[in-house]
Amino acid sequence: MTRTTATTATTLHACCWSTVSCAAGEVARVQDLAARLHPGAAVVVSCQRVEAYSASPCDCEAPAHFADGQALQHLAEVAAGLHSVVLGEEQILGQVRRAFDTSLPALRRVADIALASARELRRETDFNSHAGALIDRALKTAGMTPGGTLLVLGGGQLGRLVARRGRETGFADVIIASRTRPPEIEGVRYVPLSGASALEPVAVIAGCLGSAAGEVLPASLPAAALLADLGTPRNFAEGQDAPVVTLADMLADEHARPHAMKRRGELRARLTEIVDARAAAALRSGSPIAGLRFEVERIRQRELARMMKLHPDLPADALDAFARALVNQLFHGPSARLKSDPALGEKVAELFAPA
Ligand SMILES: [Zn+2]
Repeated sequence: MTRTTATTATTLHACCWSTVSCAAGEVARVQDLAARLHPGAAVVVSCQRVEAYSASPCDCEAPAHFADGQALQHLAEVAAGLHSVVLGEEQILGQVRRAFDTSLPALRRVADIALASARELRRETDFNSHAGALIDRALKTAGMTPGGTLLVLGGGQLGRLVARRGRETGFADVIIASRTRPPEIEGVRYVPLSGASALEPVAVIAGCLGSAAGEVLPASLPAAALLADLGTPRNFAEGQDAPVVTLADMLADEHARPHAMKRRGELRARLTEIVDARAAAALRSGSPIAGLRFEVERIRQRELARMMKLHPDLPADALDAFARALVNQLFHGPSARLKSDPALGEKVAELFAPA
């Protein structure tokens, strides 16, 4: 859909990489690039992505770039879990917030709009999902039903959520194998990671190991009907005996489900409304000039969308450039003078606001 508003007082630029099911070397390379090429940026790292958010434009090799309103919207979508394999999973919100905890105040202010919007969408939507539901997604993708033994590799947050979900979803026996003993979970057994290969055959092995663990070789695993690779970097080395379902497979499976994609699209559209309203409120509470610019941009976008619909034969880029140039010319002089008279600026901004 066409964005109607969302220009922000501070510019926001996002350089985005997907790390879904990447090997350790590639994940490390991308994390290094994100940090090295974007000094002062907030870097969001989750099991699916590495994204650098900065105040200035960037033309690095990241496969996706977003600017200003689009960057703000994208950040809100990521924070709300709309791009997560498990739709609306809770853990990503904290990961995004932590990335901006120590960022420059100007970046933090913009991120707060995205985070507040994501929270608002979560409040009005019953997602009822945490990252542990990845095991549900893995089984669905593989066409399996839960039952028998689930062996979870890794006792970190993801491993524990998956183990807990495994119990709920119908595995009779759930075992966590990790290097150190995790906090007790009711109905879940623990074995040291080094002892996993000696276990009786299991139904499913879920890989939830972090980047320090390295790839798991077939010899260190018991026999299994399915390997669910939920880790980033990917957990299972090539050449496994059992079939492997990866995060990439689960995403592809989700994208092939029209109902699921329709729901994601609807949630994105609703989130756009929330982000726009919050960005508008933030701007109005800022300087009158920012408010004026915001209202003018809103009108420009509306008219641009109308023209593009009326004249699909005209090149959209040229229309956009023309409208932008016209608006800039018209408002350059007045906005410079209004800056020196804030009271007048406020009155003029009000003239352009919706009735
Ligand atoms: Zn970049």
